[in-house]
Amino acid sequence: MPVLAANWKLHKTTAEAIAWVDAVQASPLLGRADVVVLPGFLQIPALSARIGHGPIALGSQDVFWEESGAFTGMVSAAQVREAGCRYALVAHSERRRCAGDDDRGAHARIRAALAQGLTPIYCIGEGLRERESGGFQRALKAQYDVALDGLSAEQAQRVIVAYEPVWAIGSGQPATPQQVGEVAAAIRAGVLARTGLREGMRILYGGSVQPQNIQGFLAQGTIDGFLVGGASLDPEEFLALLKAVVGGA
Ligand code: PEP
Repeated sequence: MPVLAANWKLHKTTAEAIAWVDAVQASPLLGRADVVVLPGFLQIPALSARIGHGPIALGSQDVFWEESGAFTGMVSAAQVREAGCRYALVAHSERRRCAGDDDRGAHARIRAALAQGLTPIYCIGEGLRERESGGFQRALKAQYDVALDGLSAEQAQRVIVAYEPVWAIGSGQPATPQQVGEVAAAIRAGVLARTGLREGMRILYGGSVQPQNIQGFLAQGTIDGFLVGGASLDPEEFLALLKAVVGGA
């Protein structure tokens, strides 16, 4: 099934988050895609109670690699799992920029998430300078080589890779479908070669995806879904994306 993940970043109070879920939960389109909502940590318990065992899954926007101890401000995989999450975002570029997350940390976070039965959504992407200098494929490979190092094929299969060029996130300037297709093919080949996986790897695209441009990416047929920030905040806009993803547009 295709994946559609809503990254709410630092948006929404608990009341707003519940209103969103109430609006989306009624849609008959649910169940035809893996819909994942990534709210703020504080909203997770209330949303978990609201969605119950329904078709919307929850994920955290980060997860720390240690299970417990003297790590002020961190949240463990066991804690987000207990709160109702099934997914965990790892190394989003905004966390790389604001909180110093890197690929070594991503490696430890992915392992911790997997150990708790969470599905990590591991974010990689090149900056504008890397894109323009032409060395971006090497830079991307360096990212996943570190983060996925030593994972068995079975573990790697449970990791979703989100390709999010840094210059496309929140900029209103998405990558072109052709750029996404090329990179997704290279990531797929690179990860399969590194992990011994034969198939079953899921790759998402993220970066200024909107109802108006999603069809171009879908037409390429090279990705398994989307990680969406800005356009996921409004339930109507999110449902328009979902309609396109499940083939109803
Ligand atoms: C994101 O936050 O992962 C993202 C892709 O944001 P936006 O859709 O707003 O570019």
